[in-house]
Amino acid sequence: MSLFDKYDQVAARHDRLVAAGRDPFNICMDRIVSATEAIVDGREVILVGTNNYLGLTFDQDCVDAAVAAVKREGTGTTGSRIANGTYSSHRALEQEIADFLGRRSALVFPTGYQANLGILAGLAGSKDVILLDADSHASIYDGCRLSGATLIRFRHNSPADLDKRLSRLKDKEGGKLVVVEGIYSMLGDQAPLDEFVDVKRRHGVELLVDEAHSLGVFGENGRGIAESAGVEEDVDYVVGTFSKSLGAVGGFGASDQPAFERLRYTSRPYMFTASSSPSSIATAMATLGKIKSGPHLRKQLWDNARMLYQGLTDLGFTICAETSPIVAVKMPGEAAAVFMWNALLEAGVYVNLALPPGTPDGSCLLRCSLSAAHTPAQVTKVCDVFDQCFQALRSWQDAQSAAE
Ligand code: PMP
Repeated sequence: MSLFDKYDQVAARHDRLVAAGRDPFNICMDRIVSATEAIVDGREVILVGTNNYLGLTFDQDCVDAAVAAVKREGTGTTGSRIANGTYSSHRALEQEIADFLGRRSALVFPTGYQANLGILAGLAGSKDVILLDADSHASIYDGCRLSGATLIRFRHNSPADLDKRLSRLKDKEGGKLVVVEGIYSMLGDQAPLDEFVDVKRRHGVELLVDEAHSLGVFGENGRGIAESAGVEEDVDYVVGTFSKSLGAVGGFGASDQPAFERLRYTSRPYMFTASSSPSSIATAMATLGKIKSGPHLRKQLWDNARMLYQGLTDLGFTICAETSPIVAVKMPGEAAAVFMWNALLEAGVYVNLALPPGTPDGSCLLRCSLSAAHTPAQVTKVCDVFDQCFQALRSWQDAQSAAE
């Protein structure tokens, strides 16, 4: 009996996926050409699955800031903040994030995943209850587990279901924390935050919003869904990542609660890991500066999002949610999704293949994410390639039916 035996079923499914073409979980980019292009297997590919929403990863100012930080502070921090001490650049970035969001304080983590672990496990304990949207990201689920709190899932984007569940907890002692995301990463659908705020107010509980996909993308100033919904004051905790609009690696939590700073000596995912590399911190500082400098990148991103959404809709594809920088194309089943995904890559377009159980409602998706750095010509090409691959899918399906 091997420790790996438990993966036999998953491995068999993976083998089936790989047999249909490429390994969707292991695509190697031989060379990254720009924020929107790479070389894969010697072929030029347009990247439409990077979450690089503002396209800042090759911005000259941001690259220069990262290089200067490595020269100034070195390649790594080699330890945790509680043991090795805090670099002043980490402190400065925390101040910058707090100021940007209009919060009293912010804590930086090495990834967005760890930010959710650190904030959730830091805030909640075994006597508390966390109520989370059923479609929450894995990092939110894992943070809840690590906290030891009672975990209650409510129906996705359903303030009514949350209301019902909170009513049942009326007499329960301990803290109660509601967790939602701004934009959901798989389908690109938006939380009805104003309605959630209504429910949270009525029950006198606290609210955390993970703005991973919405920071820099929504709101007049790019502060996210809470800003665009006009409910920032009712959001008690904001979690975000550097790995999308901010074009780096890292994450943060921010809050107005004076006691939030206690997480620095109580939250294990904050305390017992090395702090972020100087280059990541400097990059996030520089990209945040770009977001603060004006809406031009956001506007460009939304123009591209609308163009792809419209283009694919006109071609007859079903998009899972209203227009957003995440355009999730629904496919009729796994075989069709896998065929299309391989055909797209072969024709020079990289999107994310998203299959159950990683998707809501058992959907099979070709998930596209737009960038401000995409050109209209690239978006047109992506639509043309989708069309061409769909014709190929039809022929393949016809041939399969004839063979049966
Ligand atoms: N929260 C959400 C909603 C996410 O979608 C992700 C990653 N896609 C994370 C957190 C984790 O962020 P990171 O990749 O920076 O660890």
